[in-house]
Amino acid sequence: MEQDRWSRVKGRLRSSVGEDVYTSWFARMDLEGVQDESVRLSVPTRFLKSWIQAHYAERVLSCWQAEMPEVHRIDLTVRTALRPAAPAKEMPAPVDTRRVERAAPELRATATTPVSVNHDALGGSPLDPRLTFASFVIGRSNTLAHAAARQVAEGRRGDPVMFNPLYIHAGVGLGKTHLLQAVTWAGNSGNERKVLYLTAEKFMYGFVAALKTQTALAFKEALRGIDVLVIDDLQFLQGKSTQAEFCHTLNALIDAGRQVVIAADRPPSDLESLDDRVRSRLAGGLVVEMGSLGEELRLGILKSRVAAARAHHASFSVPDPVLDYLARTITHNGRDLEGAINRLLAHSKLNAQPVTLEMAEREVRDLIRPQEPKRIKIEDIQRVVARQYNVSRSDLLSSRRTANVVRPRQVAMYLAKTMTLRSLPEIGRRFGGRDHTTVLHAVRKIEALVGKDTTLSEEVDALKRQLQQE
Ligand code: ADP
Ligand code: MG
Repeated sequence: MEQDRWSRVKGRLRSSVGEDVYTSWFARMDLEGVQDESVRLSVPTRFLKSWIQAHYAERVLSCWQAEMPEVHRIDLTVRTALRPAAPAKEMPAPVDTRRVERAAPELRATATTPVSVNHDALGGSPLDPRLTFASFVIGRSNTLAHAAARQVAEGRRGDPVMFNPLYIHAGVGLGKTHLLQAVTWAGNSGNERKVLYLTAEKFMYGFVAALKTQTALAFKEALRGIDVLVIDDLQFLQGKSTQAEFCHTLNALIDAGRQVVIAADRPPSDLESLDDRVRSRLAGGLVVEMGSLGEELRLGILKSRVAAARAHHASFSVPDPVLDYLARTITHNGRDLEGAINRLLAHSKLNAQPVTLEMAEREVRDLIRPQEPKRIKIEDIQRVVARQYNVSRSDLLSSRRTANVVRPRQVAMYLAKTMTLRSLPEIGRRFGGRDHTTVLHAVRKIEALVGKDTTLSEEVDALKRQLQQE
């Protein structure tokens, strides 16, 4: 009951802040309990707690109030279940020693305070074993980014650095994290270089925590011992001191000939909260944009996902027509493609049924975001048509019957009928008070002509495109 409510609150939060922000800050928030007017929530780290309190307190409260108007307070606590005995001064998050050793072994030598304090700061963010170059599908929109990332991944210690930083930007779900993690996996697999992957959140968290425990120096030293620093979701880097430190780190690494790779959801010039020096340093390397996924690329990604699923579920298969359907209809981003395959897999496993087109249509319905058709107004049609045929709008509405006005008027009425939901009488009224049979006649006339007259049909198509784009 409480959990249901909590799910709905999370849903509200997600749609209010967007998928990316939600995943970064709220995905690990748990409900501890509701009592009278107050709700207790917990997060795993102190950093998350202070961030959410500073930036999202109101939002969280109002999402609760939308479900439970009586709620007036949110208490946010740091979960300590994993380390119940941890003294308050210490870092609140669990330590993963293995990762640190792989990422920064020399840390042990340079740290002046007990190593455990620094582990989490430099442990790197978790990597997803599936996000490698082998599973990355190349298409028109990401060829350059992929080539640059490959180049970085294949570099050897001491090689001259070709572009620094490599800065990749793209919208949500277009493969930034995938590419960055691929660089990290590939770079570390030779064991010759140290590649460290950090989300901006981790960078901030590590740094803030290190400052608190006064090991900033060790943290910096250790960072500088990295051959390749990979930072994901830079748009989340916030705060003056964090920025200053980021700037130092960036300069130190670049000046020392170490490679820096960065991903963000926008180009450096649009990172408003960063100061000019950082921005220009970021823009000074190679800045590559990854565009939206084309249909072919989407199909490739789906196939690669199915192949990966088949490694564990040999009986799982998705017929080509279903793949085509998904590639054609799920246009938004890679996450939805992944989600679609996961659902088909779950469904076919649970019900022991083969995947069919019908099942796919049902299962992924909510992932399909129909392009909201633009609402086109009759005024716009009249304006665009008048411009195209070099007549005035009042000519179109007038009773003049010369050929140079009659045809454009008929085209405009035809477009009004096919591109809006207006009725024939309504259209007639809007064209100088004409009868609905006149409109019908115009629509039929143009329909018939478009089938025969290629010039006219191209003109009509061009007009439609203009109207849709305006
Ligand atoms: P971003 O970090 O840009 O938001 P992700 O890298 O998390 O996006 O990608 C979202 C999903 O789409 C992931 O499952 C990823 O594997 C998949 N994806 C995106 N682009 C590609 C690609 N070119 N090849 C294979 N998978 C891709
Ligand atoms: Mg990402």
